[in-house]
Amino acid sequence: MAKITVDESTCTGCGLCAANCPEVFEIQDDNLAHVVSETCGNCDVKEVAEQCPVNAIIVK
Ligand code: SF4
Repeated sequence: MAKITVDESTCTGCGLCAANCPEVFEIQDDNLAHVVSETCGNCDVKEVAEQCPVNAIIVK
């Protein structure tokens, strides 16, 4: 299973990942994206990661 992390020092909180995949990413009170699930049945998390404008999402 992929390990998904968000680099909090890089994330700008733009919300794109949460819009693309709300099952995995959630913008929380600190206005940064957090990983709330390690898997998504509906999308390819690697593709969502590639769309992050600052490459803050790491999928291993
Ligand atoms: S797309 Fe990238 S910069 Fe935008 S909220 Fe998600 S992790 Fe942060």
